[in-house]
Amino acid sequence: MDPDCLFCKIAAKKIPAKILHEDADVFAFADINPQAPTHILLCPQKHFASLNEASPEDQALLGKLQLVAADLARKHNLLPGYRTVINSGAGAGQTVFHLHVHLLGGREFAWPPG
Ligand code: AMP
Ligand code: ZN
Repeated sequence: MDPDCLFCKIAAKKIPAKILHEDADVFAFADINPQAPTHILLCPQKHFASLNEASPEDQALLGKLQLVAADLARKHNLLPGYRTVINSGAGAGQTVFHLHVHLLGGREFAWPPG
């Protein structure tokens, strides 16, 4: 845990959030500023600033993040179409530096993304 990290504080229940999934590896919660009718953030319990800090030993954990996202998509009835996004670096719009997957659904999505 990084004591200065917002999402580590959410994992530790020091900052409130609507937690939607929790296990030994991954936690997920509702985004505070949703960009779609369903907007969930999935994080590894292990603190990484971004995907750039992940290494081969994290392969299973990164895969699990996607599998939990698919599971939450099913549970939230997003199968008509949903998007998983990881913003890596400020240039891509990353604002919280604890690796997270956005799971967005419940509306149409354009391609290419903005
Ligand atoms: P990113 O810009 O990819 O780093 O995504 C950060 C996301 O965290 C944004 O979608 C924010 O709305 C969301 N966010 C920031 N603070 C909180 C919070 N306290 N609880 C839930 N979501 C948050
Ligand atoms: Zn963190």
